[in-house]
Amino acid sequence: MADVLTPEQRWLNMSRIRGRDTKPELCIRRGLHARGLRFRLHPKELPGKPDLVFPRYRTAVFVHGCFWHGHGCHLSKMPATRPEFWRKKIARNVARDQKTIAALNESGWRVLVIWECALRGPGRPSEEEIMDAAVRFIQWDERAFCELMVRSQMAGAGPEQEALAVPADPLP
Ligand SMILES: [Zn+2]
Repeated sequence: MADVLTPEQRWLNMSRIRGRDTKPELCIRRGLHARGLRFRLHPKELPGKPDLVFPRYRTAVFVHGCFWHGHGCHLSKMPATRPEFWRKKIARNVARDQKTIAALNESGWRVLVIWECALRGPGRPSEEEIMDAAVRFIQWDERAFCELMVRSQMAGAGPEQEALAVPADPLP
């Protein structure tokens, strides 16, 4: 089908996808609540207003749309129209995300990023696996940063890999 949307219409559509209370976000809230974790939503006083925070564990969780946050996975393909426009926009988002994570880590908050591709699309782990990995990180982990995503995007991913979480050093 021909692309009949003007860039402005496309922008509106994309903005809507980007908004709060997206489907992946609701799915994470439901799953973690069902596992007994209690959280706050979008606290204004924290850098980047994380999607969920677990004050008891000093952990902030972001549910990132892969396109908007420049994940580089199968869900983040550039639109054919005005690719430069999108590239610039998304590069700004990526830079902002890095700053946000660094600021949270510096003030003693651990950060979990759950990518959209962990919850949607081919190759994703089961919802059960994602929730278990998230709970593990929130309650038991001591790393400052961790992300969950579709297996094919994981560094050194293999079918035998037990943990979904990719260890990573705090960002500079
Ligand atoms: Zn992704």
